[in-house]
Amino acid sequence: MLRYATRNSHHLPDHFYNIKADLPELPPPPLNPATRQPLKPEDLEIIFSRSFIDQEISLDRNIPIPAEVLEAYSIYRPTPLIYASRLKKYLDTPANIFYKFEGVSPTGSHKTNTALMQAFLANQDGVSALTTETGAGQWGAALAYAGSIFGIKVKVFMVRASFRQKPGRRIMIQLFGGEVLESPGPATESGKRFYQQDPEHPGSLGMAISEAVEVAAMNPEIKYTLGSVLDAVLMHQTVIGLEADSQAQELGFTPDLVVGCVGGGSNFAGLSFPFIRKNLTEKTGIKFLAVEPEVCPSITRGQLGYDHGDSVGLTPLLFMYSLGKDFIPPPIHAGGLRYHGMAPLVSHLVRLGIVEARAYPQEKVFQAAELFLKTEGILPAPESAHAIAAVVDEALVAKKSGKPLNILFNLSGHGFLDISAYEINRSGLSQH
Ligand SMILES: *Cc1c(COP(=O)(O)O)cnc(C)c1O
Repeated sequence: MLRYATRNSHHLPDHFYNIKADLPELPPPPLNPATRQPLKPEDLEIIFSRSFIDQEISLDRNIPIPAEVLEAYSIYRPTPLIYASRLKKYLDTPANIFYKFEGVSPTGSHKTNTALMQAFLANQDGVSALTTETGAGQWGAALAYAGSIFGIKVKVFMVRASFRQKPGRRIMIQLFGGEVLESPGPATESGKRFYQQDPEHPGSLGMAISEAVEVAAMNPEIKYTLGSVLDAVLMHQTVIGLEADSQAQELGFTPDLVVGCVGGGSNFAGLSFPFIRKNLTEKTGIKFLAVEPEVCPSITRGQLGYDHGDSVGLTPLLFMYSLGKDFIPPPIHAGGLRYHGMAPLVSHLVRLGIVEARAYPQEKVFQAAELFLKTEGILPAPESAHAIAAVVDEALVAKKSGKPLNILFNLSGHGFLDISAYEINRSGLSQH
């Protein structure tokens, strides 16, 4: 079998896939936090740009990718689809393992896919600056990059634990011309709440979201952007799965199992939604597995219901699996997975029984990451390594049963800027 699909431009789709067009029922709508009534699109205009809202509420199946964004994509897309033959050989499994590698994007993760689209839309709407939060820094770096391409200023609230432990992406944001603030901090009312209790507060994504949303709500020329969770963000990521489907056809396989790690749910959704479509419309029996950290188990241990997307309660109420807006996950290395909630669309698919979830401890995740490095030669992001840990387990189950199957997973990013986490983990020190 061929080890790589080609990266020929014909694999790059000219549209995103909107799964809402094919769902048997839609998830419960977001609610206005003040009235608890279904949110009106106008309610969102205080913080989001108009064109983004149009995409968020659209029920069209295919949303065109603008030519300017396609051009920006074309420097790194199509991303590779790789047959993990050496991992397979090492595991001595009948399972065929394939991965889509999003680490080749300019900032090293899948987040660039939606960042470029969102910066393009903001530019179209005449927005001067975008503000956002970032955990490990991937989203902040992706947005700063996209802002530099489409001429938009970017202001990033970065979770303090990451700001201190992971200077690499903070520096990248600054190099792209973005502004970075440590969160929680004194610049906003939301930040002050936590900052005044403890100026060394490690922070959380939920708190950083509150700060960024507040800035957007107070300044009409500044809009807020989110790197995951929202329907439109998940839709932008489907460029991954649409490409993978086309490349898989070229390699002559169809996946039996699709795996991704989940923080807010976007890289998992991006790879899996176009394949879930096949289950919904062609009655294929593909399985879908979402993998989360044991210490931030929003799907496996959280509750399905309405909750805020941030810690202060400024955002709309989303119907999702959540550990509660006050939940502060411990500072694990996979900073991108430290979020209390789960995308409403992914939550909905779990509830419908289409997506399964599983949680893994950090130790096992790092073992899987090192095995992947030694066999496939790529250092994965600690987030992506959650997916690898599950893939290894599934490949070993296949070995026991002797049943061949095709596993496709999302290698959502590379781990070069997380290299110190690997050393800390190797030396057996704790997370700090
Ligand atoms: C942000 C991030 C994640 C988690 O976010 P999702 O929205 O769940 O995809 C996973 N992997 C990488 C590399 C990330 O940067």
